Amino acid sequence: MATSTAHQQIIEKRDNLSAEHNNCDLMALLSHELKSPLSVIKLYVQMAKKLNIRNDHAESLLEKIDHQVIEMTAVLDNMLDMSLVFSGKIVLRKTCFKINDLLTEILDDYSQYFRSHHFTMVSNYECSVYADRGKIKQVIVNLISNAVKYSSQQSEVNVSCKYANEVITLAVVDQGIGISQENQQKLFGRYFRGDCDQVRLKKGYGIGLYIAKEIVCHHGGQIWVKSKEGSGSTFFISLPVPLPFTLT
Ligand code: ADP
Repeated sequence: MATSTAHQQIIEKRDNLSAEHNNCDLMALLSHELKSPLSVIKLYVQMAKKLNIRNDHAESLLEKIDHQVIEMTAVLDNMLDMSLVFSGKIVLRKTCFKINDLLTEILDDYSQYFRSHHFTMVSNYECSVYADRGKIKQVIVNLISNAVKYSSQQSEVNVSCKYANEVITLAVVDQGIGISQENQQKLFGRYFRGDCDQVRLKKGYGIGLYIAKEIVCHHGGQIWVKSKEGSGSTFFISLPVPLPFTLT
């Protein structure tokens, strides 16, 4: 019953879409609609995990479901963002939050998720920023996912945070395949993907860094990379931090 009402709403909204924004709006709408049932599944999985089931098989199945839910959520987040970015409708919901708390939260979650890699964090300052927490989280998660995706198992991924002259600089360092000088110029473009096997054989659409750049630029910040083929990459994000927010 509830599903059919939701379905009707989607059809009504779809029919009201103007032709020019058709694709973007429909993509935004569908990804938004799909996120609700997905968060309910996630909740049930979390609840089931807490039941402390003494059964290895059940535990491993729950882990697998959880893993797939995280993957689907990331795809939907990207779709939603892509539609907003493409149609020029990106909206920031800024709040003041501690950047180190965000980094710790991400690393706690992702070190569980990416057990194949070792994560470390270095920070020289406890600093708050005024930014869209969800979107900055997504940018950092994207950089960390790439660091994992384009480096070998058991290698290290380091996340650091530095503050100087009213600018906070975050860096995600990997020991992976690295990026040629030529490709470094193209990385942040829409749909760009490296052409070597180590990239082609991995899942991806070449939109993560494009969206990351749009989000960071909307915050008045910058994103860039330092890398050498075969010797790992470091992705940097800088965000302006007005003085009143450099609180401990
Ligand atoms: P995707 O990873 O889905 O292809 P992205 O926009 O996130 O899309 O990245 C674009 C391209 O940049 C990738 O295809 C890859 O060639 C390169 N790249 C991104 N991050 C890294 C990294 N940490 N190490 C090596 N190459 C990277």
